[in-house]
This record gives sequence, C-alpha cells and structure tokens, in this order.
Amino acid sequence: MPAPRKRRYAATAVTPFSKVEAFLEPILASIATHDISVQRLGGRFEFQSPYGVGFLEATAGQLRLSVETDNRHALNRLKHALVGPISFIAAGEALQFEWTGDEAGLTPLEDLRILRVRRTAQLTPRMLRIGFEGEDLARFDRNDQLHCRLIFQPKDVVSPQWPSIDDRGHIVWPQRRKLDTRVYTIRSIDVPKGELTIDFALHDRAGPATRWAIAASAGDLVGIVGPAADGPRPAGFYVLAGDETGLPGIARILENLDSDARGFAFVEIGGLSEKLPLAHPAGIQLQWLDRQGAQPGTTSHLVDAVRSVAWPSDRQDSFFWGGCEHKAFRQIHRYLRNELHLPRERQVFYSHWHRTLSEEDIIAAGASAYLPD
Ligand SMILES: Cc1cc2nc3c(=O)[nH]c(=O)nc-3n(C[C@H](O)[C@H](O)[C@H](O)COP(=O)(O)OP(=O)(O)OC[C@H]3O[C@@H](n4cnc5c(N)ncnc54)[C@H](O)[C@@H]3O)c2cc1C
Repeated sequence: MPAPRKRRYAATAVTPFSKVEAFLEPILASIATHDISVQRLGGRFEFQSPYGVGFLEATAGQLRLSVETDNRHALNRLKHALVGPISFIAAGEALQFEWTGDEAGLTPLEDLRILRVRRTAQLTPRMLRIGFEGEDLARFDRNDQLHCRLIFQPKDVVSPQWPSIDDRGHIVWPQRRKLDTRVYTIRSIDVPKGELTIDFALHDRAGPATRWAIAASAGDLVGIVGPAADGPRPAGFYVLAGDETGLPGIARILENLDSDARGFAFVEIGGLSEKLPLAHPAGIQLQWLDRQGAQPGTTSHLVDAVRSVAWPSDRQDSFFWGGCEHKAFRQIHRYLRNELHLPRERQVFYSHWHRTLSEEDIIAAGASAYLPD
C-alpha cells in the first residue's frame, strides 16, 4: 500500500507596497540572515527554511508571500520568518499582511528554548560571562549561525510566560506584557553537557539586557531563539573586526579557524584592562585597539585598522567578518564595497548597536539605523 501523502499546510498574503523595488534587496538579505537560503526562480524568490518553504513575488506596487510546510505547528513561525524581517526593514511603510489559507491558531515558537543561569564570571571590568544550562540546544550548535535573540525573564519569576505567534506571523505576548529582548552572540555551546555561554559587554547607559546581565545569578531564566546571522566561510585570508560587542564572535571564530589561517583580527576596547587571552592561529595577527578612555562608538580606530590592511589581490579568497557600532559599520561597509570591491558573499558584517539609539529606537527608525547607506 502506498504511504499516505503527508498533509501540506499552506497560506498566502498579498499586501500593497508601492516602494517594493527599493526595499527588495535589503529585505532578501535580512531574510537570508535568519538561517534561510534564498534562490531566485524566474520572477519570484524561494526561501528554504528549517520551518518549511516560502515564496516572495514583488510586482508593481504589491508584495505577495506564500508559505508551505508539513508541520502545522511551524506554519506561523514560517510566516514570521518572512513578515518579521520585511516589517523591520520597511518599518516606515506600516505594511499589513492578511493571510488566507490554512491556520494554526496561536502557536509556541518552534525555536524557543529555555536557559537557566548556571554561573557568572567577570572576565574583565567590562565583560561579563554568563554560563547557562538548557535542554535540546542542538539547533544552536552551528559555526555558520552565531547569533541569537535572548528573551529576559524578570528575576524571581514564579510562572514564566513566553511569547507565541499568531496566524498573521506576529509575536503575541501573554497578557500583552512584552518582555525585553536583545540580540547576542553565542560565545560557546556544548550540547551534550547542555551548556551555552554568552559574553555581555557592559556599557554606561545600561539598557534592559545589560541591567539583566549585571543582576543575573544562578537560576535566573532567559529564553533563546534562533540561531541567525551567518559565520565565517572558508578563505585563504581573513580580516575580523569588532568592538566589545564583536569580541565574542571574533573569539569564537578565531578558536575555530584552521591552524594555517592567515590574516588580521582587530578588536577595539575601552582600555588595556579589557584585553582577553584569545586562542588564534599563528598566521592571524591579533591587534587590540585601545580607545584610551574615549566613549565607545566615537573613534575611527576600527575603520583605520581595516583600511590599513594589504589585502591579497584575489578577493574571492578573502573573507571579512565584523560587528560594531553603526557609524564605524557604515564607514567600513562603504570601504569594503566601494574601494576594496569585496564581493558580498565574501563578508558577514552587522551593525551591533547605535550610539544614540536603544534597540527599540533602532526598530522604530528602521533601515537607516541598521543598514549600510
Ligand atoms: C548580531 C548581533 C550580535 C551581538 N552580540 C553581542 C555580544 O555577544 N555581546 C554584547 O555585549 N553585545 C552584543 N550585541 C550588541 C547588543 O545587542 C547591544 O549592545 C544592545 O543594545 C545592548 O542592549 P541594552 O539593553 O544594554 O541597551 P539598549 O537598551 O539597546 O540601549 C541603551 C543605550 O545604550 C547604548 N548602547 C547600547 N549598546 C551599547 C554598547 N555596546 N556600548 C555603549 N553603548 C551602548 C545605546 O546607544 C542606548 O543609548 C550584538 C548585537 C547584534 C546585532
């Protein structure tokens, strides 16, 4: 007897979007950073994701999305994987997605795992390491997807509430009480032991993430979703650049590069007491760029360092990875694109924070506070 055909769940949304052409490239790039492969198929784009497959068609003045999955519970997460980045990149357009097709109702986030603080350690005056324990963490054990979003529970919470996703692909918070969330880099992970480590760079205008980390003690809870945002790719020559927020990613990448890797790693820090012992291949020159007390996000150290590199002529064999404040991000991005002509697939680079904006402000401002110019 033939095996019964698997039930397929599908839905479609069409929304008016007059400026769709102008936003298309950053939208596709943003979707792709969330562990989704993007392929152009004739007039539309196909997305392969851990939750199922999606499609995007941009025609004059409108955007059409469709999703298909075997897993009913993942249907809304799949919608969110498209609607989330689109709404973020085109925040000013206030797009409304009305879906038709199958519905799953309010569903838990497929990728949410719960972490509990096991220990904290002050690595330097400004770098706090938190070691977490959790179950079923294998999905985060990826050297090609380094980042995650943390959901901070209040201290001493008795019955922790976690967000769900509705049929529009929107996050819904229990009793409309939104918890604070921020993006961090997974510094290390040991799935068999159920351990995951995050390094928090502490800063003066501490927002909710930094306050949570400073107050954290054994047993405190945090949710983790993801992973996202790409890691290094094979290359003969690497340049890694970041401030304190890029340091966890750089440290992790350096530990995992082949022993014969060549290149440079630049890390901007507030003072020499922030230096950490980093394992790295002998052929990678590690340089600490000391701000000497200047405010973070105010110097040109990282930009100057990246500009000083004598890159090999074969750009296809080079790779850049970085994460830092938005202004340096934009300047370095402009240099890599316009002067160095480093191909897009030979770089992974994110704006990690903005000198005058909290993460909520960045989301409200949209692309200009987050993307390169
Ligand atoms: C992909 C990615 C990976 C990241 N990985 C890490 C990581 O591993 N470790 C890490 O520490 N950070 C990391 N960050 C940066 C972190 O998410 C931001 O610094 C975040 O804004 C901190 O949240 P908060 O609640 O403390 O401050 P917010 O509430 O977001 O901001 C409050 C105020 O603090 C300022 N501010 C925010 N961050 C900094 C900073 N680093 N230095 C100085 N002022 C700041 C803002 O301008 C604002 O005025 C990462 C960011 C991204 C996008």
